[in-house]
Amino acid sequence: MRRDAKVVIAGAGVTGLTIAALLADLSPALQITVVDRSARPEFDSDADLDLRVSAIAPGSVDLLAGIGAWNESRPERRCPYDRMRVWDADHEVGGPSTLCFDADEFSIPHLGYIVENRSLIDALLAALSEHDVAFRFSSPLTALEESGNGHDVILENGNRMYADLVIAADGGRSLIREACGIAVDRYAYSQTAFVTHLMPERSHEATAWQRFLSDGPFALLPLADGRVSVVWSTEPKQAERASACSDEELAKLMTELSDGVLGQLEPAGPRGRFPLAAQHAREYVRHGIALIGDAAHTIHPLAGQGANLGLADAAALARVIEEALDAGEFIGDRPVLRRYARARRGANATMMQFMTGLNRLFASDSAVLGEFRRLGMTLFNASGPIRSRIAGVALGRR
Ligand SMILES: Cc1cc2nc3c(=O)[nH]c(=O)nc-3n(C[C@H](O)[C@H](O)[C@H](O)COP(=O)(O)OP(=O)(O)OC[C@H]3O[C@@H](n4cnc5c(N)ncnc54)[C@H](O)[C@@H]3O)c2cc1C
Repeated sequence: MRRDAKVVIAGAGVTGLTIAALLADLSPALQITVVDRSARPEFDSDADLDLRVSAIAPGSVDLLAGIGAWNESRPERRCPYDRMRVWDADHEVGGPSTLCFDADEFSIPHLGYIVENRSLIDALLAALSEHDVAFRFSSPLTALEESGNGHDVILENGNRMYADLVIAADGGRSLIREACGIAVDRYAYSQTAFVTHLMPERSHEATAWQRFLSDGPFALLPLADGRVSVVWSTEPKQAERASACSDEELAKLMTELSDGVLGQLEPAGPRGRFPLAAQHAREYVRHGIALIGDAAHTIHPLAGQGANLGLADAAALARVIEEALDAGEFIGDRPVLRRYARARRGANATMMQFMTGLNRLFASDSAVLGEFRRLGMTLFNASGPIRSRIAGVALGRR
């Protein structure tokens, strides 16, 4: 028999809203409340495409479709991409060492979508409006206390809410994680991501372009209106300069860094900077607590995996909770939650190590490493099984 249970989800980002929708589909026995410190986001369809966009992999699209959010998302605010080209600054795009991925090769319509974060949140909220989920926006969480067989979460206004299970989806600086005393392993990249939209002279050809420079990767991601979103991971000082320079200077800099792959690039949007660091929580669960998404791990954006890993966490946790409900188990029990940790922590660690290693390998000026990269990329292009294994993980299909 299914036991009633109270779940509080800290954080109404992509990860928190997705787990809310997955759990709401499971059982009316779950009373779900989502708490966020920010006001409920209002979507303005007349506003220009926001600065923050994410590459969403096919596996994540399937998950979002399953909870009704993909249908709610606005086609004019997402752009499918069918090709990916990755090359080293020392070589020309299109040469034998350019890594090429094409949707056809994997028999899928698209490699993924570049989606506006704001419109994805709006789509998730629209999907959740069909469910019996309570929201507490403009409600910063300030503390967590053990209470009965679970916890009280305490809001800034002093209100308390009891939860059998608290799901921490409250981002990289998770208050819940810190309140539990869960330590993180950190790796600071000494890089900042400079982000803006640019209008290319030539069509982006529904392709995600990534050039590895010695200071970090430079990515051009296709947008639905023909622009590209640039994510340049570089030294903090360089990112500061790019933020402050004139439009003419920025056009010249961006065109040079892209090696003119799309012709002249013209500034066409706001500019932003995001300091980068990888961190991984040493534990994902405690009695009555589960960390998911950026609260559990943050990762270098070079392969566009952060949000996708959070969605995979949400799916895994929902599966574990469903099995526990079916078995009549208490969903806050540590042995139950440890099944989720076992399913996700190793997979996330592997992806993080791979991204950190890749970033280091490409950031090196050493001639030996340069030759190793060229050879490695050429061999990788020719290696069927390794290519499809890595692509399968990146596509969210394995
Ligand atoms: C430059 C850049 C590019 C990226 N590109 C990609 C990409 O292409 N693809 C991809 O998959 N990922 C990408 N990522 C990563 C992705 O943006 C994150 O992994 C994802 O947004 C994390 O979502 P989340 O819901 O776990 O956390 P968040 O989005 O951080 O959400 C946390 C929520 O918790 C709330 N909150 C926090 N503290 C409290 C509190 N005390 N009380 C109440 N509420 C609280 C916040 O208001 C927020 O709404 C990128 C990241 C960067 C920096």
